Amino acid sequence: MNRSRLVICAATMLLLGACTKSPPPVDATRIESAAPGEWLSHGRTYDEQRYSPLERITDKNIAQLGLAWSFDLAAPRGAEATPLVADGVIYITEPWSVVQALDAKTGKPIWRYDPQVPREKGYDACCDVVNRGVALWGGSVFVGALDGRLIALDAKDGKVRWTAETFDPATPRTITGAPRVVKGKVLIGHGGAEYGVRGYLSAYDAETGTLAWRFYTVPGDPSAPADGAASDKVLAEKALPTWNGEWWKYGGGGTVWDSMAYDPELDLLYIGVGNGSPWNHQIRSAGKGDNLFLSSIVALRSETGEYVWHYQTTPGESWDYTATQHIILADLTIAGVTRKVLMQAPKNGFFYVLDRTTGDLLSATQYVPINWATGVDLKTGRPIENPEARYLEKPMLVKPSYYGGHNWQPMAFNPKTGLVYIPTLDIPMAYGHDANFKFRPGQMNLGIDLLVVALPDDVATRRAIKSMLKGDLIAWDPVRRKQAWRVALAGPGNGGVLTTAGNLVFEGTADARFVAYRADTGEKLWETPTQSGVVAAPISYEIDGEQYVAVMAGWGGALSLVSGALTPNTGMNNRRLLVYKLGAHGALPAPPAAIVRHPEPPQAADDAATLLRGKWLFQANCLGCHGDSAQGNNVLPDLRFSPMLQPASWKSVVFDGALKANGMIGFEKFLAEADVEAIRAYVISETRKELGAGP
Ligand code: CA
Repeated sequence: MNRSRLVICAATMLLLGACTKSPPPVDATRIESAAPGEWLSHGRTYDEQRYSPLERITDKNIAQLGLAWSFDLAAPRGAEATPLVADGVIYITEPWSVVQALDAKTGKPIWRYDPQVPREKGYDACCDVVNRGVALWGGSVFVGALDGRLIALDAKDGKVRWTAETFDPATPRTITGAPRVVKGKVLIGHGGAEYGVRGYLSAYDAETGTLAWRFYTVPGDPSAPADGAASDKVLAEKALPTWNGEWWKYGGGGTVWDSMAYDPELDLLYIGVGNGSPWNHQIRSAGKGDNLFLSSIVALRSETGEYVWHYQTTPGESWDYTATQHIILADLTIAGVTRKVLMQAPKNGFFYVLDRTTGDLLSATQYVPINWATGVDLKTGRPIENPEARYLEKPMLVKPSYYGGHNWQPMAFNPKTGLVYIPTLDIPMAYGHDANFKFRPGQMNLGIDLLVVALPDDVATRRAIKSMLKGDLIAWDPVRRKQAWRVALAGPGNGGVLTTAGNLVFEGTADARFVAYRADTGEKLWETPTQSGVVAAPISYEIDGEQYVAVMAGWGGALSLVSGALTPNTGMNNRRLLVYKLGAHGALPAPPAAIVRHPEPPQAADDAATLLRGKWLFQANCLGCHGDSAQGNNVLPDLRFSPMLQPASWKSVVFDGALKANGMIGFEKFLAEADVEAIRAYVISETRKELGAGP
C-alpha cells in the first residue's frame, strides 16, 4: 500500500471506523488464488500459464495502447526478466543480478539492490550475465545472483535478510533463473553444463535461508560416498545404470537452470533438466546409456525433494537438447476426457503433452523442422532417431541446433482459445565429433569440433545463411496436435510471450518492436518501436482500475551473443522496462547515433597456419561473448573494429586482464602469449574480410 492510500485509509477509519487492511505478505493462498491484477510468481501462477485474466485491454481497443512510463536499465547487457507485481510495486531484475523495485503505476523508483557480483564471474556465464527475475514470499524478495548467492531482501526497503551460498563460486556455475517459492521453500538451480559441472536443485527455508534439501540430477563418482541428498536413492537405483565411462570427471551436466512448475493439489513440483556435460554422448558416456536425468522433466515432492516420476525427452542427448524450457500445467479435454497435463516444447523440436499425475506420455508432436529424429514412439516414449545425427562418422547439419526449436523464452497458454503460443526457432547448425577432446577445467567443454560448428569462411555464404534462419510465433493446438496459426518474423531471437483474456498475444521482437496479435487468429493488431531487441516475456497487471502491459527491452543472451550477426537485430540497444496502458501517449527519447567503426585494422601475421590456430582458439575461448567466427553481436564489443586491436593494448586486455573490472578476464591462466597473438591475427583477418566484402 502506498502513502496516499494509507492517508485515505486513515481518513476512512476516522469517518467510518473501518478500513481495508493492508494485504498479507505473498504466500501460497495469494499465489494460488491469483488476484487478476497481480503477477506474484514467475509464470504468474504456479501452473506457469502466463495468462492474464485482465480484459480491459482487448482486441477491440488495443489501438489506444501507448507508453505510460519507462525506466532505463543501467547495464548494457541482456534483459531477460519477467517482472513481478504485488501491492502496487513492480520488481524487476537487471543484468548482473541487480534488483529494482518501482511504483507500478508511475515508475518511480522505490529501492535498488546491487549484489556486486564480481565481474570476472561473467566468464562462467555461457549465455550472458542475465537474470530472469525474482520470487516473492513472506515479505521477502528472493534473487539468485550470478555468483551463486541466493539472497532474501526485505520487500519494503531492499535490505538483505539472509544470504545462502548455493554453490562454490570458484566452480563454473552461474544462476540466471528466477527462484520459485513453494510451501515456504525457495527453489533454485543453476547453469554451467557447457563448462563441466554436475547439476542440482536446492530448496532453502524462506524464513531462515537454511538448506532444506538438494536434488542432484545426475550421479556423481560411483566410488565416492553418497551425497546425503534427496536424490541418493533414485540416482543409485534408476540413474547410475544408465551411465558409462568416466562422466563424473566432466561433471555430467543436467543443470536445472530455468523451468519449474507446481501443482498444489497433487503436491508435485516439476523441474526441467538440462543437457549433458560435455554435449557429446560418445565422450561423456562412451556412447552408451540414456544418462538419466539429462533432458528430462522430473516430478518431486516439494517438501522433501523425493523423486516421484520422470520423463526423458532425449535419451543419451548429444546436441545440448535441454528440457529446461518453459513448463505449462493445464487441464485439457483429450478424447472426451479431462486430463491434468504438463506441456513443454523443449529444444529437441517435439511438443510434449504428459499426464502430470503419472508422467505418462500422451503425445509428442514435431512443432518445428527437425532431422535428428523422425518421431516419438508413443508406446516406449522414445524418439525414433536418425543415427547419422549423432555425428560420429561425419559432421551433420542438425535441426534443431543447440539453440533449440524453442529456448528459454517463455510460451503462454490461453484457456479461452486452448492454444499455446510458442516463440520458435529454425537454426540448423553443424555438429562434428571432437576426436582430440581434452577436458579444459573451467572452460567450455562441448566435445564437438569447434571448426565444424564455425560459420563458413566466405562472407557471401554467411549472408546466405542469415537469410535462411527463422524465428516464428506459433499458436499450437495441444489437443489437435497441430499449428493453429503462425506469424513469420524477420528472423530468430524474438522474445517470450504473454496472452490475455482480451483475446490478445503480446511479443517483443529481435528487430526492436513490441507487437500484439489476436489470440484466436494471429492477426496483427498493434505494434510500437522498442529501441532494442526484446528477448524477455511481457506481463500484465492492474492498478486503480487501469490495466498495464510491461516488458523488459534489452538485447542479449546466448543466441544474441554467439550468433547475433545472424539475427535481424538492429544494433539499437536502449535497455529499459517499458510499461503501456490505454490512452497513454508517452514517447521514448530519440535514439543515440550509431557507433562509428574504427577505420583500418593494424598489421598482423596472415599465414594460413596462424589464422587457423587463431580461429580455433577464438571459437574455444571468445565466441560466447564476441560472436561465432568473430562476427560480433551488438551487445559486447565487435572485436573486428575494436581500437584494442593494436598489439600492446590487445595483450594488456586479452592476456593481462586490463578490463577485468568490466567482465573481460585476462586469459593468462588459459592461454600462452602466442595464442593471444594468433587470435588477434585471426580477428584482423575477419576485419579485412568484412571491409573487403562491402555492405
Ligand atoms: Ca546448454
